[in-house]
Amino acid sequence: MHRARKLEPLPDNNGYFGQYGGQFVPEPLQNILDEITTAYNHFKDSPGFKKELSDLRKHYVGRPSPIYHCRSLSSKLGGGQIYLKREDLNHTGAHKINHCLGEALLAKRMGKKKIIAETGAGQHGVALATAAALAGLECDIYMGEVDMEKEHPNVVRMKILGTNVIPVGMGLRTLKEAVDAAFEGYMKDPINQFYAIGSVVGPHPFPMMVRDFQRVVGEEAREQILELTGRLPDYLVACVGGGSNAIGLFSAFLDDAAVRMYGVEPSGKGFKTGNHAATLTLGKPGVIHGFKCYVLQDAEGRPLPVYSIASGLDYPGVGPEHSYLKDIKRVEYRTISDSEALDAFFELSRVEGIIPALESAHAVAYAMKMARRMDNHETILVNCSGRGDKDIDYVAAKYGHQYGIN
Ligand SMILES: *Cc1c(COP(=O)(O)O)cnc(C)c1O
Repeated sequence: MHRARKLEPLPDNNGYFGQYGGQFVPEPLQNILDEITTAYNHFKDSPGFKKELSDLRKHYVGRPSPIYHCRSLSSKLGGGQIYLKREDLNHTGAHKINHCLGEALLAKRMGKKKIIAETGAGQHGVALATAAALAGLECDIYMGEVDMEKEHPNVVRMKILGTNVIPVGMGLRTLKEAVDAAFEGYMKDPINQFYAIGSVVGPHPFPMMVRDFQRVVGEEAREQILELTGRLPDYLVACVGGGSNAIGLFSAFLDDAAVRMYGVEPSGKGFKTGNHAATLTLGKPGVIHGFKCYVLQDAEGRPLPVYSIASGLDYPGVGPEHSYLKDIKRVEYRTISDSEALDAFFELSRVEGIIPALESAHAVAYAMKMARRMDNHETILVNCSGRGDKDIDYVAAKYGHQYGIN
């Protein structure tokens, strides 16, 4: 059993969750980050900001997202009862709109003209482009040329939304170079621009701020599951890339000592192949992108290349709060492989009529594994972080033959 005492509210004033987090950045940037922290702390409790955010959550995003009891899947597995928090039903199809909306509203209140970010597969880019269009802000999204070709529909979406997609042609022309280019673009004019980080990563205050904007997922879910089942869930499960959808769900239950939590990382093609992104499972504490966390790194401390079938999960760092929750053993971190995630992707589609994002399929796969070993009165609440529309062409072309569709 976990101890029942309440966890301290974190981060501390310097942005630390235990030994993780902080601001490992040059001094001029520290000043800018402090300014964002001050503005955030000011607006987050102001009635005007809160009202605007909650109205948009309701009327624009479509919140609260429902909780759905997967009766057929649960009875087929013959064990615990699986419930899904349906973040896939949000406008734009995933949980990312929750923090993008918050960041865009904050940028606007701070008098910024433009929000900028990098994107890999384009999911963060599309959510941010959407929030920028809504808030009446300009938006620059930096994207590697290789990714632009691979993720063409998302490039078109961003352009339709009025965003300026900036191709990055350096190095491998993927996410890492896009981060470098976006950062360079940002530093040219930090007065008029706001860098919107896409997960609970980066220097303070981003891990705190993005968590707070995602916490609505857990707060709604807690109320909804109590109403549906009359008690708290026995287990929570969510996939972890940077960790924003997971912390959004977990943070509302951290004081409920009886609720056990699992974060699911991708073991990709298997640990032995090196093609994975199991940061909390195999990484060591280190500094990446301006903050301290578990990092997948080589002997010299350089970040290792990462891989997952789900492009939203392949990051060699992870949120500092997850790093802390692992060390204090409040959350357990497990892995699911590409092929297990694919099986879950098809199983949820065929048994429940819900096509999950490949990222979310990792959480579903782990919940399915757990459910088989559980009693049928026990409950698992899974964060279905996004819908799988973005993945169908890739899955059909690459794996369709294994599942009878090509
Ligand atoms: C981006 C993404 C993730 C991973 O990001 P987190 O910050 O770990 O939540 C998970 N699911 C979906 C659908 C995503 O788009």
